[in-house]
Amino acid sequence: AEHNLAYNTESLQQQDNQHYLHPFSDHKSLREQGARMIVKADGVYIWDSDGNKILDGMAGLWCTNIGYGQKSLANVAFEQMNELPYYNSFFQCAHPPAVELAKEIAELAPPHMNQVFFTGSGSESNDTVLRMVRHYWNLKGKPEKFTIIGRHNGYHGSTVAGASLGGMKPMHQQGGLPIPGIHHIPQPYWFGEGGDLSPEEFGIQAAQELEKAIQDIGEDKVAAFIAEPIQGAGGVVIPPDTYWPEIKKILAKHDILLIVDEVICGFGRTGEWFGSQYFGLEPDFMPIAKGLTSGYIPMGGVIVSDRVAGVFEQEGGEFYHGYTYSGHPVAAAVARENIRLIKEKGLVEYVKNDIGPYLQQAWKTLGDHPLVGETRGLGLLAALEVVQEKEGRVRFDSDLDVGGMCRNTSVSNGLVMRAVGDTLIISPPMIISRDEVDELITKARKTLDLTM
Ligand code: PLP
Repeated sequence: AEHNLAYNTESLQQQDNQHYLHPFSDHKSLREQGARMIVKADGVYIWDSDGNKILDGMAGLWCTNIGYGQKSLANVAFEQMNELPYYNSFFQCAHPPAVELAKEIAELAPPHMNQVFFTGSGSESNDTVLRMVRHYWNLKGKPEKFTIIGRHNGYHGSTVAGASLGGMKPMHQQGGLPIPGIHHIPQPYWFGEGGDLSPEEFGIQAAQELEKAIQDIGEDKVAAFIAEPIQGAGGVVIPPDTYWPEIKKILAKHDILLIVDEVICGFGRTGEWFGSQYFGLEPDFMPIAKGLTSGYIPMGGVIVSDRVAGVFEQEGGEFYHGYTYSGHPVAAAVARENIRLIKEKGLVEYVKNDIGPYLQQAWKTLGDHPLVGETRGLGLLAALEVVQEKEGRVRFDSDLDVGGMCRNTSVSNGLVMRAVGDTLIISPPMIISRDEVDELITKARKTLDLTM
């Protein structure tokens, strides 16, 4: 063992069962199976309490972009806690870490986006976006522009507003969501929903769903459209090339704000700082989180366009919204160091020109496996579709939960992959080496072999 681990797994699981209500879990089956205890991490690897070393192909929850074990992030947190552990930015105050971080983010964002509002998470960021969109249209004297259009199977978080903006049916069913004023259109998921259309034709068709929704609801009632550049939690759904250009055309015709949820795509994952830059989008809002601090400490934010921030500043009137931890100095210091390290190591360029293309080319080789109906990916995001028969994209019986079986096999064999239905996905740390990518691919193939 490379690490001296002294944990009593059974005792930890017992306490876990007795006291810890897990997020996103089936509590009954969790109690029966017991949770895997992750106790340590370094680089792209995590270790469990039994000493198993596992390659983290998901970068935690798509967030440890910088990889594990970056000591300088711990050091700046220590220093900032000693200097100023907390102060707020309410009531005409601010502090250097938040101010400097906002400036640095603005420099990375598209040129028309220069203001940042800070939150504690991606979900909070999308709650903030909903409030800001409606504040904006109120200030513009158009309060009837109220409806926000999202997409089926989109994910924007787990709070009431975040889950409502997202299009996850099981989330909506638990508790009367979505809240009023939110409408969902189909997603650009060609493998699952494209039928006989080519990806290009399907991309146009999926985009035109936005036009249809605007016509149905009425342009004067539609406030904004929200989408992830690439749907992450929905299964790494990479839109056909025709999709975003068509969406841009539709948005340009109508007076509607664009929210591009960068919580996953932001901070390098596509090989650009933001997915919006990859797809050439001009958002009014970019919710961010995850890669902002590489998950070392909770923090999120919303990057706001000059046209929206300009209205807030010209019209005035208090915006009754903010969080105790908005711009938290320790989180801001960690985020600054994280961004500094990403730049110093050239990780965004590395994803774009080196490790991204290398991973994509290697991932594609899995396409010859009898269980694989499609491989796809971009930057350091990738997915494959598990099928019973390639021809006609025939799925296994969903009761079998082949995706879940693959995920479990994968972890037992030393690789974290995630399953969304029968779609297997990866999103590894951006520091991953070529050798580690080779290991990931070998283990992914072994997972498929063992699951057959
Ligand atoms: N938006 C997107 C695109 C996400 O992927 C996520 C989380 O996975 C969120 C928002 C919610 O972020 P958080 O879990 O930090 O609240």
